[in-house]
Amino acid sequence: MSRVYNFSAGPAVLPEEVLREAADEMMDYRGCGMSVMEMSHRSKVYDEIIKTAEADFRSLLGVPDNYKVLFLQGGAHLQFAAIPMNLMKNKVADYIVTGQWAKKAWKEASLYGTANKIASSEDKMFSYIPDCSDLPISPDADYVYICENNTIYGTKFKTLPNTKGKTLVSDVSSCFLSEPMDVTKYGLVYGGVQKNIGPAGVVIVVVREDLITDDCLPGTPTIMKYKTQADADSLYNTPPCYGIYICGKVFKWIQKMGGLDAMKQINEEKAKVLYDFLDESSMFKGTVRREDRSLMNVPFITDSEELNAKFIAESKAAGFENLKGHRSVGGMRASIYNAMPIEGVKALVDFMKKFELENK
Ligand SMILES: *Cc1c(COP(=O)(O)O)cnc(C)c1O
Repeated sequence: MSRVYNFSAGPAVLPEEVLREAADEMMDYRGCGMSVMEMSHRSKVYDEIIKTAEADFRSLLGVPDNYKVLFLQGGAHLQFAAIPMNLMKNKVADYIVTGQWAKKAWKEASLYGTANKIASSEDKMFSYIPDCSDLPISPDADYVYICENNTIYGTKFKTLPNTKGKTLVSDVSSCFLSEPMDVTKYGLVYGGVQKNIGPAGVVIVVVREDLITDDCLPGTPTIMKYKTQADADSLYNTPPCYGIYICGKVFKWIQKMGGLDAMKQINEEKAKVLYDFLDESSMFKGTVRREDRSLMNVPFITDSEELNAKFIAESKAAGFENLKGHRSVGGMRASIYNAMPIEGVKALVDFMKKFELENK
């Protein structure tokens, strides 16, 4: 068996320990005689799996009792619609557009009501986070929406916007469980798990109870109402059973690593290795304003398309996978999620140094 250093933005690297455990339990989950893929989601065994996963997630993130945790399907994209359908009581929401995902969410919301773009960083290719300390928040906005870590561009909100009392909704797909967060600052936080938590197919929504009502936009599908899912403890219909089971294992792994404070420290250390090199290299450059740099997604370029292509090809041959930047921006991007060991980042930097010398 040989594993590569996988810098994919998502689906992304998972802890080896989790994969090994899942492999060990594949044919016979703890004496059941079947895999978790094959068992009823209504069984006692599965009930234990999903309840434990939720309890561990709550304790890791410090989710207060007045928030529900929902394990759903449909990816982040379904939430782009579910959020306005559930929360747009006045049919008005304010969006801060800091990348493709926020832009898509904003466009989707405008199908259901007035979605105001109140700030954007598109003028400079989304390479920074706009000042959000005094934005023109709409007086009747049902919520203010952000994408907290911009996976494609590699920026992250280091301070949350001043919503002037309005409910904050945040897409944390690519920074979920990478560091502690204060859930009480949000009405709703959600993320697809395939970036930092588990396999594609699961979205975790953390939503304050007072926002969960039957009063959704007319035509909201039953399954997309948070109330339906909350009342049924995420078991209204068949949930993404196997994905939730893997997420549960990742939660245990993060606990073992020391929880989110420890995760943050490790992630800062890892990112520093790469950013320090980008700052001193004369060939490779980061593309993001320094104070807005993401700990998870690190885009970088050389000043030649040809060198970029050469680097991507040679790094791949050397066992560094998925360093090609998003198709919309080009260049390179290293996603260094929780499960990427620091050895992987150090090895990448060594490789970049060598490449720089060879191609001077
Ligand atoms: C990947 C990603 C999405 C899209 O997720 P899907 O599960 O493909 O819908 C949305 N937002 C962010 C921040 C992402 O990183």
